[in-house]
Amino acid sequence: MKPFYPFRYCPLCGTKLETREHEGRERLYCPKCKIIIWENPVPVVACVVLNENQEVLLVKRGVPPAEGMWALPSGFMEMGEQPEETAKRELFEETGIVGEVEEIIGICGQSSLKYRWIVSIGYKLRWISGKLRPGDDAVDVRFFSLNSLPEIPFSTHRKMIEKVKARKHPR
Ligand SMILES: [Zn+2]
Repeated sequence: MKPFYPFRYCPLCGTKLETREHEGRERLYCPKCKIIIWENPVPVVACVVLNENQEVLLVKRGVPPAEGMWALPSGFMEMGEQPEETAKRELFEETGIVGEVEEIIGICGQSSLKYRWIVSIGYKLRWISGKLRPGDDAVDVRFFSLNSLPEIPFSTHRKMIEKVKARKHPR
């Protein structure tokens, strides 16, 4: 993967960045500070909540990317936050549901236009309390049958739902 060219200037001194080979990859480099500007994936958390009918909770996104499409409740980890806290916070912010983490479903990388590469951590949560309502970045929220899901734009979300579905219906 090539460096993320939208970053053109050193964040410390403002010098125009160069690229140089380091540890097998082309990196952004500041010739004045003599430092590499490291680029790393951004962690996000996605939440799978099933109701008593084994339907999965989705939110209709009110913000880009994929505005207007249905996806798992999800969001970016904050600095200093543990991933399980992110899951519970995002679930509550987007759906009004207070959840308890049951297990990790999986961890998976995905390309992103804005962040270039994100790592999505999927958690399964149990609905403990709270009333379903769309909040924050969501315009609608509801449960869908695992057999008749709308088009879900994120491959990581599709994979996580498939994993949970496979466990519910062991072959
Ligand atoms: Zn610099």
